[in-house]
Amino acid sequence: MINPHEVAVKQLEMAAEQINLDPDILEVLKHHQRILTVSIPVRMDNGRIKVFIGFRAQHNSSRGPTKGGIRYHPNVTLDEVKALSMWMTWKTAVVAIPYGGAKGGIICNPKELSQGELERLSRRYFFEISSIIGPERDIPAPDVYTNPQIMAWMADTYEMIRGYSIPGIITGKPLEIGGSEGRVEATALGLSHCVEVAAQKLNLDLKSSTAVIQGYGNAGSYAAHFLEKMGCRIIALSDSKGGILKREGLDSSAVYEHKKKTTSVIGFEGSEKITNEQLLELESDILVPAALENQITNKNADNIKCKLLAEAANGPTTIEADDILYKNNILIIPDILANAGGVTVSYFEWVQNLQRYYWTEERVKKELKQIMVKAFEDCYKISKNKKVHMRLAAYMLAVERVANTLKIRGIWP
Ligand code: NAD
Repeated sequence: MINPHEVAVKQLEMAAEQINLDPDILEVLKHHQRILTVSIPVRMDNGRIKVFIGFRAQHNSSRGPTKGGIRYHPNVTLDEVKALSMWMTWKTAVVAIPYGGAKGGIICNPKELSQGELERLSRRYFFEISSIIGPERDIPAPDVYTNPQIMAWMADTYEMIRGYSIPGIITGKPLEIGGSEGRVEATALGLSHCVEVAAQKLNLDLKSSTAVIQGYGNAGSYAAHFLEKMGCRIIALSDSKGGILKREGLDSSAVYEHKKKTTSVIGFEGSEKITNEQLLELESDILVPAALENQITNKNADNIKCKLLAEAANGPTTIEADDILYKNNILIIPDILANAGGVTVSYFEWVQNLQRYYWTEERVKKELKQIMVKAFEDCYKISKNKKVHMRLAAYMLAVERVANTLKIRGIWP
């Protein structure tokens, strides 16, 4: 089993070596500022109490309040949450928004919970972590298997405890209670801006390109939508139950309706069933992993046949796989860059909440594009100048930015 926290620390060390990072600063950055483990007793529908375990890890706040989503999944571990929170520190630094990194998670299978159980679980978890979060401290958001409704329950819980309106406590909220225009699709839209610039660098015509997407949740389904809008032919899609292939192209909105009706992409009319493993190895121009970590490893990296790997998921590619893909001339848009559109529009949502002044969708999308294109170009320049792959380039940029703030601040006391 690959330990994501060990991967995250190793990635940091690799960037540190490239930029000659002061070893004292490296020592600080290898550690998390604060980690909380909570037990969450929930009265289940059958009248019994079940205790769930949840985490909140805050990696580093030297660039601003910490920020990061909350994941509900049976395989959540503390090491996964620690890795994800460290990656958030680099992600916010790559797109130069004034945040640090954090992440939360609950070990649970939300598919087995009723709406009432899910609400009680979410509210009690938020109460348990409320002592270390806050709109100026640590601002959660959605991640795998959490959604705007869950964000609404969490915001409401915090506001009930404090007794007044504090919409800036969490992002990814429904529009009605202070969410932002454009937040739901932001991760995928940000990714599509990166894909557009990357395609220009590769002389890839998106209008005649094919794309494969693993994972069909928030990030994956919108990625399919935006890539299709840019002219790509989506030949394969998948979810946790497996994948579907149709070489003439899948109609992403029809697949969306099919999944809504049947809970899976499987069985979509005219498609052939494939496994998630087969899907990754299909011949295509663009591959978008949009599910979980460690999907591309040293075992399958040599079989990956895309030209452009755009990582909507966090941590889908291992360190060994990175080297193989680089050697095989595959351009990677690394997670901390490719999926940073989500946290960027979360930042816009938070700014709007603090100012109580709401932006138009047009403004959100325009500012998102500016930030994503600049971040891509910044990383690409480093990658070319230093002859390193895009992930290392993004890390070098991010770690340097965080290290500089630490240097300027010094260590208290
Ligand atoms: P989601 O819960 O909306 O969707 C997850 C999808 O992955 C579902 O379609 C599910 O069926 C599928 N899946 C689960 N296990 C799978 C497996 N073993 N193989 C294939 N598919 C599987 O989650 P999401 O928000 O879309 O997040 C997906 C990834 O994107 C995660 O890595 C997340 O951290 C990352 N991400 C999301 C956002 C965001 O704003 N939503 C932002 C940045 C990064």
